[in-house]
Amino acid sequence: MDVKVLGAAGEVGRSGFLVGCEGTNILLDYGVMFGRRGSPPQYPLHVRPKDIDAVVVTHAHLDHSGCVPSLFVSGNTDVYATPPTLDLSELLITDMLKVEKNAHQFDMIELDNMMKNTKGIRYRQKVTKGEAAFELRESGHVIGGSTVLVESEKKRLFYTGDIKTNGSRMLREADMDIGQIDLLITESTYSQTSQKPRMQSERELVEFANEVMDRKGVLFIPSFSVERSQEIACVLQNANFKHKIIMDGMALKVNEIILRHPEYLRNPDIFRRVVNNAVSIRDHSQRRRALRQSSKGDERAEPCVVISPAGMLVGGNAVFYLQELAFDNRNGIALVSYQGEGTPGRMLLETGKVEARGREITVEAEVKQFEFSGHADRDELFAMLRKIEGDPKVLTVHGDGEDCRVFAREIHEEFGWDAHAPSANDLVQV
Ligand SMILES: [Zn+2]
Repeated sequence: MDVKVLGAAGEVGRSGFLVGCEGTNILLDYGVMFGRRGSPPQYPLHVRPKDIDAVVVTHAHLDHSGCVPSLFVSGNTDVYATPPTLDLSELLITDMLKVEKNAHQFDMIELDNMMKNTKGIRYRQKVTKGEAAFELRESGHVIGGSTVLVESEKKRLFYTGDIKTNGSRMLREADMDIGQIDLLITESTYSQTSQKPRMQSERELVEFANEVMDRKGVLFIPSFSVERSQEIACVLQNANFKHKIIMDGMALKVNEIILRHPEYLRNPDIFRRVVNNAVSIRDHSQRRRALRQSSKGDERAEPCVVISPAGMLVGGNAVFYLQELAFDNRNGIALVSYQGEGTPGRMLLETGKVEARGREITVEAEVKQFEFSGHADRDELFAMLRKIEGDPKVLTVHGDGEDCRVFAREIHEEFGWDAHAPSANDLVQV
C-alpha cells in the first residue's frame, strides 16, 4: 500500500491523499484552499478520474470536498460518503460556485454529474473496490463526518479527516475502535493548543447570553452555518434559555438537511426542539422586523439571540446585524469560532472596531470570544494516538506547517513511530 500526498501538511484546504492498493486507487478527500485577498483558489495536485477507482469524502467542509466536482470535467468516478455529507457538500459547493463566480475550473454541471455518481454509505459499512476495502467511522467533527479505514493486502490505513474525539452537544464521540494500523494520517489543527473544557465554554456563553438579556440587549452570535450555528442553539436550548432565538442565513437550509438525518445526532429531540422554537429569517424585511419588534411598541427589539453567518463576520448578513447592534452597549457580540488573520472578526477582537460598507465602526456592544472548536485539541489528539495499536508510519497534516512538524517530532518521541509532516507529492509506502 502507498499514499501520495496531494497537498503539503501546512496547506490546510488542499486536502487530498491518493491511496494505491495493488493497482486499485482510492482518493481520500479533494478540497479547495481559498485564496487570500483575491488570489485564486488552490487545488490539490491534479488527479485524472480515469486513474482512480473511487473518491471517499470524509465530510462536507469545502477544504475536504470542494474540489471533487473537478473530477467530472473530463470523466467520472464513484463518490462515497455518508448521506448527510453528500447533502451538505452539494449545498456548500453550490454556494461556493455562486459566491466565487468564474473562479473555479468547474461549474454547476460538474457538480450535478458528481451528485449523480454519489453512493451514500453508513458508518462501518464495508465497501470493496478491486484490491481495496474501506469503511467510514464516526468522527464527531460535523454531522455525517467520518474518519476512513482502508485495508489492502493485510495493510491498514487510518485517516482522521477532521476529528473531534469527544464529540459535542450535537454529535456523539468519534469511533476509535480501529485496531492495528500500519499507516496513520492525522490532522494537526490544534495539536499545539489546549482548549478549555467544553462544559466551561458552554457555561460562559450561557452566562453572557443571560447578562445581555437581563440588560434588555440583543446578543448577536456570528456563526458558520454548518454546524456551529446549530451547536450554539443546542447549547442554549439545553440550558433552558428562556428568550427568543433567531436563526438566519444558510443555517436554515442546514437545519432542514440535519432533520432528514436524525440518526447522525447525539440527541435528535433537543435538535428538533431547537428548530421548532427558533424564529427563522427568510428575507430582508423579516430581518428588519425581527430587530424592530418590541412588546412595548418602541423601536427596540425585545431581548433575543441572533445566530447568523458568517463566523468571522465576512459576508453573510453579518454587516446588517453589526450596523443594527454595534452602537448600543446593552447589546453583545459572541464570537464562537477561530477568527482568521485579516478577518473583520479578528479586527473586532483586537481593536474594538470593524469596517462595514467602507466605514469604520467603533463597536459599543460588549464583545466576547468563546471556544467551541470542532477539532480535537492537543490532549484529545494524544488520547486518540494512545488508542491506536501497532507501529504505524504517521503523517501529520492539516495544521500550521510548523505545528505539523512539531507534532510529528512529539509523536516520534512518545511512541517511537516514524512520523513526519509531508510535502505535496510525497509518496509513502508501507
Ligand atoms: Zn472540517
